[in-house]
Amino acid sequence: MAIIRKTPFDLRVSPNFGDYDATRAGFSWAEVTRRMDGLPGAGCNIAYEAVDRHAVGAMGERTAFRFLGRTDPDGGIPTRDVSYAELARLTRRFTNVLRDLGIGKGDRLFVIAGRIPELYVSILGGLRNGTVVSTLFSAFGPEPITTRIQLGAGQVLVTTELLYLRRIQKIRDQLPTLRHVLLIGEDGATTDIPDTLDLPTLMAAASDQAEIAATTADDAALLHFTSGTTGTPKGAIHVHGAVATHYATGLYGLDLHSDDVFWCTADPGWVTGMSYGVIAPLLHGVTSIVDEADFDAERWYRILHEQAVTVWYTAPTAIRMLMKAGPELARRYSFPQLRFIASVGEPLNPEAVLWGKEVLGLPIHDNWWQTETGGIMIANTPAFDIKPGSMGRPLPGIDACIVRRDSSGALQLVDTPDTEGELALRKGWPSMFRGYLNNEERYRKCFVDDLYLTGDLAKCDADGYYWFIGRADDVIKSAGHLIGPFEVESVLMEHPSVAEAGVIGKPDKTVGEVVKAFVSLKRGVVADDALRLQLLGHARKRLGAAVAPKEITFLAELPHTGSGKIMRRLLKARELGLPEGDTSTLEAGG
Ligand code: AMP
Repeated sequence: MAIIRKTPFDLRVSPNFGDYDATRAGFSWAEVTRRMDGLPGAGCNIAYEAVDRHAVGAMGERTAFRFLGRTDPDGGIPTRDVSYAELARLTRRFTNVLRDLGIGKGDRLFVIAGRIPELYVSILGGLRNGTVVSTLFSAFGPEPITTRIQLGAGQVLVTTELLYLRRIQKIRDQLPTLRHVLLIGEDGATTDIPDTLDLPTLMAAASDQAEIAATTADDAALLHFTSGTTGTPKGAIHVHGAVATHYATGLYGLDLHSDDVFWCTADPGWVTGMSYGVIAPLLHGVTSIVDEADFDAERWYRILHEQAVTVWYTAPTAIRMLMKAGPELARRYSFPQLRFIASVGEPLNPEAVLWGKEVLGLPIHDNWWQTETGGIMIANTPAFDIKPGSMGRPLPGIDACIVRRDSSGALQLVDTPDTEGELALRKGWPSMFRGYLNNEERYRKCFVDDLYLTGDLAKCDADGYYWFIGRADDVIKSAGHLIGPFEVESVLMEHPSVAEAGVIGKPDKTVGEVVKAFVSLKRGVVADDALRLQLLGHARKRLGAAVAPKEITFLAELPHTGSGKIMRRLLKARELGLPEGDTSTLEAGG
């Protein structure tokens, strides 16, 4: 596929990351850390860098978050702006709420709420207090909530009255570590539910003044549960020092400038929504759009247009859903301010990269990272040409490589371009996770000498661009070939009838595994045998008989995690009639 060259239009705002080699060569994590204010005695606290240091002077008046409520009966989208100064005041109050309850440094706070202001205040106030914060996706049912709060031994829970009554009250006796439950009523109203406390009342009574906790860069700050597309979720521990990565990746990966209007569509229940929906934009003093409502193609175009979003960070599933909705809808809106679009979470099909250019006027920039890495590691950024289908190149401060095991099992660095192997990162970036909760052995297994093994298969080309092949567990072995599901899915996506494709290996006596595809179709397209044959033929022509799918099943929707990843493991379990395993992260309706 043709390379997308950047034009002067793409570069109308001077990129923070302009010369690839020179910026990387001149980069040091120590220098980034020096750009942070820090706390007395070489201390470090994410909330201080994100909020407190911007709350004084003229900067305090700038809008930190613009919260968009659900559409009102007249079709309007209600907004509430919270300035940096107000955010600081509210987080200090919440810090005092925790202190008054005897919750301090190292204790664990869980927050389960939709994208309402209290969610953000609780996260930042918790961090400010040195309390370890874990946000859980608000669509989780009682089961995943129980497992995670039990695993994390949560002492405090902030949630809404509705979520509490529907999902938590009945499991409360299974959560013996939980000392306090703080509730938010509908639209911030007060609540009166037995065995809980009313957060608005506590906030109103709390003082505006609160010393920040004496945390250091190595103190635990965040606990993120991985989304579990391939297995049981694990609790990854992140420290306050991760703030240096949040800052550097916001600068170089997302190209944030202080006058940007930034919209990260991820929910803070997932790592993207925390690192880039809360922390990084605040570190750069930008205004973030937070949409309380769920995905809706028309609403999203409207938000990009009406809020004059300049930098947009979203995910492949969302892009595929916009593609499914058709270009006419996008053409009803204009996006003259939009200057950079990035995507993460799953491989971004080349079709989607090009669709961005065609329909929104800008290509979509794929980037790669994981819960464990805490921030963006490999990215396509504004200044550089895009090779559609590649996740880009390592950011400054990130040393990536491809490794393979030799016949004795020893790890070898692969230096021949375009050779498949496991993607590894050299230790030393500040947001690297510091443990899996209660699973030291699993953590240790992720490292060999100074390399962190990501569990993803990839290759690196002669220009240093990385190409995703698949999760090691998803890769298909057929007649001696190693097939990455992404490649097959992308070819199926090229067909004008296909909205989304998920590909698995199905055990076969002769060839080991055959490639099987599950396909959902664009609106109005009829699923029939003629189309199936057409798709099989198209894939065979593009991929060759050895790699093309042998079977295609049409599904109305593919199963996704709440964070939007296709659950290939579940497709496989369902196909083979095997137990579905952990489905706690399955999106409702999947
Ligand atoms: P999680 O930790 O749940 O966010 O999942 C991280 C995993 O998502 C990575 O290890 C990859 O398998 C996948 N992933 C994230 N971003 C990308 C991307 N840009 N391209 C391909 N896979 C991705």
